[in-house]
Amino acid sequence: MAYPSQHLASIITGIKGGGTAARGDDLSDGTEVKSCSRADQLSECLDCGAKVLPWQRKCPICESTNINIKTDSHWIFSIKSKDELNLLLNNTPRIILILFDRESIEIETIRLRAWVVNPKNSYVKAFFKEYFYDNYLKKIEKGEKNPAPCNLHPLKYDFYMMEPKLIFHAEINIEKRDVEIKFWDVKNPRVEPMPIDILRTKEIEEIFKDEIDKGLTIEEIKQTYSFIPEEKRKLLKMRKKIIKKYKEKYRRRG
Ligand SMILES: [Zn+2]
Repeated sequence: MAYPSQHLASIITGIKGGGTAARGDDLSDGTEVKSCSRADQLSECLDCGAKVLPWQRKCPICESTNINIKTDSHWIFSIKSKDELNLLLNNTPRIILILFDRESIEIETIRLRAWVVNPKNSYVKAFFKEYFYDNYLKKIEKGEKNPAPCNLHPLKYDFYMMEPKLIFHAEINIEKRDVEIKFWDVKNPRVEPMPIDILRTKEIEEIFKDEIDKGLTIEEIKQTYSFIPEEKRKLLKMRKKIIKKYKEKYRRRG
């Protein structure tokens, strides 16, 4: 995935590839390219456990239609030293995030989108520092040999908080073998608005305090603002992350 995505990022931006395998998927100007595909993830039959291909409507083994369609793939950042953290945050001109997905599982059209994220953005800095100091290093201190890399989930809270800007959007119709470019503008990228559904009730209450004081209900706010206005988004804070080990502990305590 990484290598074709570097080519794709080159085509989209007009910037040559780095041509080195050292950090794999970069462009020659130091741009970091990450990609993720939710369009061709293997699914799983819930009855017999067999792997099901994305285009199969039935389980190839038991013909069950009870299928767990997986769309949880995400962008992965490996940051194993302070140098790597500094390189990403201080010496990378931009991060390009590429996502292949479908609007819904019934739709045969594959959507390809690319966003640019500024590593100097304060949320981006906080997000990766939080991973490195509060997650990675803590696990190392506890003796873990290979802590999990940093995961960034497309179209989730942290993603929108990084103020990603769309630079490319194409739709690939598999049946018609047709590609439609919906948006392509690297110089004037489009800020990706944050849907209000991303927020928890408590967060809506915090950033829409004035509106609530005026008597609006959460439901009315959701109907009025399907996307969060820029000045409200700025009021949102980073969510506390619970690292896996603690999660398991909580679960066991039940
Ligand atoms: Zn099956």
